[in-house]
Amino acid sequence: MKVAACDDDGSVRIVERDVPSPARGELLLRLRWCGLCGTDLFKLNNKLPAAGTVLGHEIVGEVVERGEGVVAFNLGDRVLSPHHVACGVCRLCRRGASTKCAAFLENLLEPGGFSEFVLVRARAVRAATWRVPDHITDAAASFLEPAACVLRGIDRAKLTEEPGAVVIMGAGSMGLLHLLVLQSLMPEWKVIVCDPIRERLEFARGLGAITCDSDPVKLRNIVDRLTDCLGADAVFDTVGGSGPLRTGVSALRPGGTAVLFAHGAEAEPAGFELNPFFKGEQRVVGSYSGGLDEQRRIADLIFRGKLDASPLVTDFMPLARINAAVKLTREHKALKILLGPEVW
Ligand SMILES: [Zn+2]
Ligand SMILES: [Zn+2]
Repeated sequence: MKVAACDDDGSVRIVERDVPSPARGELLLRLRWCGLCGTDLFKLNNKLPAAGTVLGHEIVGEVVERGEGVVAFNLGDRVLSPHHVACGVCRLCRRGASTKCAAFLENLLEPGGFSEFVLVRARAVRAATWRVPDHITDAAASFLEPAACVLRGIDRAKLTEEPGAVVIMGAGSMGLLHLLVLQSLMPEWKVIVCDPIRERLEFARGLGAITCDSDPVKLRNIVDRLTDCLGADAVFDTVGGSGPLRTGVSALRPGGTAVLFAHGAEAEPAGFELNPFFKGEQRVVGSYSGGLDEQRRIADLIFRGKLDASPLVTDFMPLARINAAVKLTREHKALKILLGPEVW
């Protein structure tokens, strides 16, 4: 089979590997599509993956072989399987930190999503594999994993029942996915999307967002106007780094929450004043990945047609063009790119 494997220099090469064969409880999928994610890009930009690593984890695949004992899925089923599944029973899981559980960090997709065939490990087959209903497109389904991450961040913001306003820093695919998940869950909330790129803001407006170009003074003015000077209940920073966080925090209401959703530069300090957090009872919380609970709730939203993020897919490309896809994403010329083995 063909797989897109990393090189030491942060590029990716198509190489030939043996098709894995499923052991007891495992499934073998033929890849339909795998989303290129900001995390994949971060790893490549920082040359983190060891040579031979196969990235990719936002997969939609078709069952082509079942390991012994798998009865819940049939050959030909279109399925979704996240790469990370928490154990559900350890001390971290019991305390709600399931995405930091040691078992969660294991990659349950072998060799990875950017591969013609993908083996799904037994724990993922058992706990977190979903059959995609016929009426749901591959593109809509492919957002299960990233949307579960978004939902976790929204939960961690502890928004009130009473509708208010939130700010999203960044109008890339993750920023706009926040917008779509928020609209699906809380349609009466006001959502302001901030980004310096004009075309992205136009796109965000087309999806129903109020937009602002990342200038902190303008942002505060917009938020004040929309909230009668209360401020934003939450800020979701999908850009990363101290600059966007500072801008976002400047729009928060007393008691509001800033959710960190993206990597900053290595060892970068926060760079904002602490006293307003103390006096304003504000919170900064990190949100890492998405757990089983979020995956289940997002699968339900997608399959009931309540969440369709397919408008964020700007390109469908063959896996063989993965380097071009990385370049387009890096240069902000694409939102979400789905890579598939269709055209070799
Ligand atoms: Zn992802
Ligand atoms: Zn655990």
